Amino acid sequence: MAHNGLLQSDELYKYILETNVYPQEPEPLKEIRALTASHQLSFMGTSPDAGQMIEMLLKLTGAKKTLEVGVYTGYSLLLTALTIPEDGKTVAIDVNREFYEIGKPLIDKAGVEHKINFIESEALPALDKLLEDPASKGSFDFVFIDADKINYLNYHEKVINLVKVNGIIVYDNTLWYGSVAKSEDLVPETLKEGRTSVLKFNKALAMDSRVKVSMAPLGDGITICRRVY
Ligand code: SAM
Ligand code: CA
Repeated sequence: MAHNGLLQSDELYKYILETNVYPQEPEPLKEIRALTASHQLSFMGTSPDAGQMIEMLLKLTGAKKTLEVGVYTGYSLLLTALTIPEDGKTVAIDVNREFYEIGKPLIDKAGVEHKINFIESEALPALDKLLEDPASKGSFDFVFIDADKINYLNYHEKVINLVKVNGIIVYDNTLWYGSVAKSEDLVPETLKEGRTSVLKFNKALAMDSRVKVSMAPLGDGITICRRVY
């Protein structure tokens, strides 16, 4: 999987991965990372150091019911399914089933497919559907958002009502390759649109009294967010 860490020193990021992350990474996750490495969009896969924090949060909160928006080949989904208990459930939404199918054999091999409800759909209507079900409102212990950045604020308005009070939402790529702190003229054209969305999102989230946040510079930046009320 492509290196997409934020640290200025590649050596330091390599050190963290090799000393801290890879020795604890479950074998099925190593396999899905290896499988994804040859895919042309492999840069989209969740960074294993961010994954390690997600696992920590899932365990600390005792998460049993989770939601993910943006599955790709399934690194974060498999991580979640491996971490939640045997009777846990995760709802995973992605508009592209073909990506999910790439990693699916490894999900099956790991024996955790029974915990997964994959929904092939645009995320916003799928989230609206979940919100229509009174049993879903305020019911999720943990949410991971990793789809199109332009919709992060729209996703936030939906998932804030799906996650339970004191539940966690993690937003991925909130430092957008470090571009959030660069002046626009120094930012490559390919990153500009995402940067605009991420800047707007980060600002709005920090002003949102419904949540308390912590931005962790893992992977490409993750914002850990707890619903307060
Ligand atoms: N979490 C994944 C992992 O661990 O490998 C990576 C997700 S990748 C960065 C983003 C995914 O979001 C892609 O698979 C893409 O198909 C999906 N996506 C993008 N826009 C979407 C939308 N509007 N609705 C649903 N899925 C979307
Ligand atoms: Ca991501």
